Amino acid sequence: MKNKNNTNMKVTKFEELNFKQIEKLDRDKTILFQPISPTEEHGPHLPVGTDLLTAVDTATEAIKTLNEKKPGYNHVLLPAIPVGYCKSTIDFPGSVHIGWKAIRDIVYGLGSSLARHGFKYLIICTYHMAYGHLRGIYAGMKKTTNRYNIKIVEPWSPVFYSGEIEKNEPKLGFDTSKELHADFKETSLMKYQYPYLVDESYKKLQNIYRDMNSPRVIGKTFKQLGLKEGYIGSPSKADADYGRWFFNQTVNVYVQAAHDLIAGKKPRELPNNVKLIMRSLHLL
Ligand SMILES: [Zn+2]
Repeated sequence: MKNKNNTNMKVTKFEELNFKQIEKLDRDKTILFQPISPTEEHGPHLPVGTDLLTAVDTATEAIKTLNEKKPGYNHVLLPAIPVGYCKSTIDFPGSVHIGWKAIRDIVYGLGSSLARHGFKYLIICTYHMAYGHLRGIYAGMKKTTNRYNIKIVEPWSPVFYSGEIEKNEPKLGFDTSKELHADFKETSLMKYQYPYLVDESYKKLQNIYRDMNSPRVIGKTFKQLGLKEGYIGSPSKADADYGRWFFNQTVNVYVQAAHDLIAGKKPRELPNNVKLIMRSLHLL
């Protein structure tokens, strides 16, 4: 199912190491990967762990690729943190919403604990792209790097919001920029990774579109907007091949981020319009 060349390579998991083993890791040659995404409703057809599972799996796959490409380095997977800001879907069971300040504090606690012991490179892996979630993550990254000598990057959201996916994706014949939640993209991803977790009802779901950046919509929950089935997009079009392509896009972005971190390259930033929305939202 996954990249077959890599399936047998061992991934080092942080929680399986003892402190002596952690102590011995060469700080200049250790990169830590931290998946962080909430459990959240993903329509009537996808599991609530869609974002979390994908964050873990793409990080794992990136580590396998890096283990092959950079054998002298330690690529370590931290245990996934199942939290995130998902206020807009809170009126569905399965969504666990955590405020942005708590997310900031979690990222700061994590980053500062690692930095205190000399770790220099941390990659945050999230598949949950809500502005409030990113606000918490970026605030935590900033607070940590202002106080400690550690480099932290979150590489996926700048690519996700850049419009590059729509530019580079395989030809489909419809506009995927309107696919927002439990949609064509996410259903395709899950059909690729976890076909047995995708409920067959997805084939009958009607296309539903909403502009979630419109001022009238911001701050409202899905149910308040009439989105009773908890998805926005066209999940019925889902395609496992597209899912594989999308999955590998993220893996490649994480692999590149690891190379850039070591090389000391400046990380890519979120587009200005996203930064503006993040700052202007009245998030409590
Ligand atoms: Zn999602």
